[in-house]
Amino acid sequence: MSKESMREEADRLIKEAMEKKITIKQGDTRIEATCGKCGGKNRVSAAPGQLRVPFACKECGQKQTTL
Ligand SMILES: [Zn+2]
Repeated sequence: MSKESMREEADRLIKEAMEKKITIKQGDTRIEATCGKCGGKNRVSAAPGQLRVPFACKECGQKQTTL
């Protein structure tokens, strides 16, 4: 393997790793959900396009979905 092709391979791997990182970041949406029972703020992570995400309130334990 020549030095040239080794460098190309390294560049390709770096590019792939960066693309994967970006995909993971974009795949996760953070929703600030307010508890319907106690009004506590909860951070809920959701898949893109998912509007009603089930979560349990960290303040009172009430199970509900985000609006
Ligand atoms: Zn609550």
